[in-house]
Amino acid sequence: MKIGFGWDSHAFKPGVPLKIGGVAFDHPAGLAGHSDGDVLLHAITDALLGAVAVGDIGSFFPPGDPRWKDADSAVFLQTALEEVHNAGYRIANIDTTLVLAEPKIGPVAEKLRERVAELLKIDPGCVGIKAKTPEGLNQDDVAVAHAVVLLVKLEDSDNLERMAAVAEQETHMEDVVRKLVRQASPKPARKPAFNTDDIT
Ligand code: MG
Repeated sequence: MKIGFGWDSHAFKPGVPLKIGGVAFDHPAGLAGHSDGDVLLHAITDALLGAVAVGDIGSFFPPGDPRWKDADSAVFLQTALEEVHNAGYRIANIDTTLVLAEPKIGPVAEKLRERVAELLKIDPGCVGIKAKTPEGLNQDDVAVAHAVVLLVKLEDSDNLERMAAVAEQETHMEDVVRKLVRQASPKPARKPAFNTDDIT
């Protein structure tokens, strides 16, 4: 197994579209950045790249590169996912925490979870989305995201699936044998309800 951690922050800027976790928000301010400023996807991207120790989001997508101006951060995430697969790993689960004053994440947390799971091609049950307000930090104009990811080696997960398939097959075989034995063995003779000889 491997663990990865990612962190990112972006400042709010009025009049910019807001996108968090690949979901567009109707909000008067968005997150400023060279790309679409998706703080959550950036933190997850870094966690994935960090887990397989291949660098960080900046080394793959330099902020000065005009190709990434206003880029959809889902592209960064896909690259990180490919790096994970190329290293021979798959995601077991991820967990995240957003720290921001506004907008409230609670009402859309489920939507974020489903979108992030879809982008990572994993079950929504393997994606944690949590949010806190920056109490006492004096950073209401900033959005912060933390992400941790756990990876498992593809070989190991393949072996586990193979073992589960064998176990299932064995159970099936046992059922078949039990059925055959039942069919082959003579049924116990039924005793008549009463002895007709006695009546006559
Ligand atoms: Mg960023």
